[in-house]
Amino acid sequence: MFELTNKNAIVTGASRGIGKAVALKLAALGANVAVVYAGNAEKANETVAEIESLGVKSKAYCCDISSFDSAKELIASVIEEFGGVDILVNNAGIVKDCLVLSMKEEDFDRVIDVNLKGTFNMIKNVYQHMMKKRRGRIINLSSVVGLNGNAGQANYAAAKAGIIGMTKSVAKELAARGVTVNAIAPGFIGTDMTAALSDKNKEAIMASIPAKKMGTPDDIANTVAFLASDEASYITGEVIKVDGGMAM
Ligand code: NAP
Repeated sequence: MFELTNKNAIVTGASRGIGKAVALKLAALGANVAVVYAGNAEKANETVAEIESLGVKSKAYCCDISSFDSAKELIASVIEEFGGVDILVNNAGIVKDCLVLSMKEEDFDRVIDVNLKGTFNMIKNVYQHMMKKRRGRIINLSSVVGLNGNAGQANYAAAKAGIIGMTKSVAKELAARGVTVNAIAPGFIGTDMTAALSDKNKEAIMASIPAKKMGTPDDIANTVAFLASDEASYITGEVIKVDGGMAM
């Protein structure tokens, strides 16, 4: 398996779900992990305690990634307190699902601000640091919805498609500096986000998955671990679907 000893990682949205699994996986491989969350301090502190029990450093940071200044302050604090950043996992995300017919402007804006602008805010503030180190890993969470679209998710699909364009652009900018930038497009993964769907919606989604089962947060974490490793140093600008065949 891969090895990340002495690497420092920032994982946004690591209090719960996919982000928590990613944080624990990176820590299990030896990385120190900054756990970023929006408001759920109790869950974030639980993640930190689980990471520390693996013998590596961890700290929780409350930060709304949609704020450029907050993201800037967050990254400066992590660089000072951890001694640098080697791996950035832009995982935090939200949904506000609704057909466009009744979608409120503020719900479109908020989903773009957190998912897409938040990813930019984090990348922008770690960019020069990684460029100077001449090594880095940026891994962005997109979605199969960003590839295929989905009725009721025009805001979310636009944000997740935007993340793919941003991933490829920044990958081209940083490739010669030893920094890789990749995206993961999960399918239907069991977390709080998908638990909120109606049974009817869940049944319809399940019917579209060739593997006939939901994915787990660990399925995504394993892919992040690979992309974060030295073994993936020649992979950049890629979008890896982890979806049981859903978006084939
Ligand atoms: P989740 O269970 O709803 O967890 C969301 C995480 O994001 C929480 O840690 C939350 O922090 C954090 N967060 C939300 N808004 C934030 C903000 N403004 N600033 C900083 N952190 C914020 O989500 P998930 O299902 O694990 O999804 C993780 C990522 O995978 C998302 O980008 C999502 O779009 C993507 N994805 C998920 C699926 C799926 O099936 N689950 C499929 C495709 C893509 P608090 O706990 O403090 O609220």
